[in-house]
Amino acid sequence: MHYDYAIVGAGFAGSVLAERLTSQSEKTVLLIDKRSHIGGNAFDCLNEDGILIHQYGPHIFHTNSPDVFDYLSQFTDWRPYEHKVLASVDGQLLPIPINLDTVNKLYGFNFTSEELADYFKTVGEPVDDIRTSEDVVVSQVGRDLYEKFFRGYTRKQWGVDPSELDKMVTSRIPTRTNQDDRYFTDEFQFMPLHGYTKMFEKMVDHPNIHQMLSTDFNQVKDQLSFDELIYTGPVDEYFDFCYGKLPYRSLRFDHQTLDVSDYQPVSVVNYPNDHDYTRITEYKKLTGQEHPKTSLTFEYPQAEGDPYYPIPMPENAALYRQYKQLADEQTNVHFVGRLGTYRYYNMDQVVAQALTLYKKLIGADSLQEAAK
Ligand code: FAD
Ligand code: UDP
Repeated sequence: MHYDYAIVGAGFAGSVLAERLTSQSEKTVLLIDKRSHIGGNAFDCLNEDGILIHQYGPHIFHTNSPDVFDYLSQFTDWRPYEHKVLASVDGQLLPIPINLDTVNKLYGFNFTSEELADYFKTVGEPVDDIRTSEDVVVSQVGRDLYEKFFRGYTRKQWGVDPSELDKMVTSRIPTRTNQDDRYFTDEFQFMPLHGYTKMFEKMVDHPNIHQMLSTDFNQVKDQLSFDELIYTGPVDEYFDFCYGKLPYRSLRFDHQTLDVSDYQPVSVVNYPNDHDYTRITEYKKLTGQEHPKTSLTFEYPQAEGDPYYPIPMPENAALYRQYKQLADEQTNVHFVGRLGTYRYYNMDQVVAQALTLYKKLIGADSLQEAAK
């Protein structure tokens, strides 16, 4: 059969485009994924004990974009959830992002917010040009807090020192002088009430979307017939690594179920300095599910394996620019998503990027119009 569009990847990028192109523009879409399921890295499922887990690590939805939130709300109800994370440092579980309670508990101080702001001014190291992930943190909170909360975690997670990573990585984590212990401050913070996969199922449930799962596009592309291609896999792979491999960081997920109903005080505990894993997630605390057992995931960063994180470093950005130029020269091939555009994007940013591409494809005037 001939399709208007072939879409490689059924994650957020591919699914949003498949949904828009069929439900709004009456196109026919072949949606291909090499995995046996839709949802990409946001895929969740019931494990053998009936606990809803995230197969590829914890996914918490947060956005400041009403357009993105309204768009996804067509496919799911939501469970209000404000994410809180503790870091295991010096034998204590302390709030991260670093806030007033973090510093007072760690050092046994009794600072007010104003006193903490003054303290940060004295311990923060002046940095003229903030370029790296080390610069961001040492300039704000000084070297001791940097070493206790950021240096070890970042080296584990990325396999390089924070001084080699672009500032955008640790800039994701703010510093606070108040007691706000939420991980995110976005206007919209929710979990999909029945999980991500259920939301994706609704998105791609259209007679003009033909799903082809457990299929690597590279193996079948010569047998397919389509007018345009939307590619959400790794951009370097599409071009046969002609300029060399773009580095990605991978993870090994160790999923465990324990015979206790409760394991840790919050859904995610970070381990900056101990163990080979970076963090432990306890899913029931994200999803609100009640169950006599509890399921956890330990995340072990590694170099090899599925590509999960583009690595924001100047030399990688330069290599990506070469691929981007090649991508821009293609006719009827569109690259989108975290792997397709080599960007460390959150889910909402990928949805916005996909809606923007849809807007371009159909010539809509605004994101709002594209998302309607
Ligand atoms: P993906 O979800 O990676 O989808 C790409 C799909 O393409 C994959 O399913 C892959 O199998 C398929 N594919 C690739 N190549 C081929 C091929 N040749 N043939 C067929 N199929 C192919 N974001 C948040 O907003 N909040 C969070 O809390 C959060 N936590 C995260 C935690 C972890 C551990 C990770 C790794 C990411 C997290 N993210 C989070 C980011 C989020 O996962 C991404 O923003 C989002 O899933 C990207 O969607 P995508 O469609 O671009 O890519
Ligand atoms: N980070 C850290 N210590 C922490 C939490 C985060 O050093 O306790 C750094 C680390 O480099 C991490 C980055 O901040 O990769 C971004 O953290 P985030 O939680 O946003 O990572 P993600 O959920 O994308 O893996």
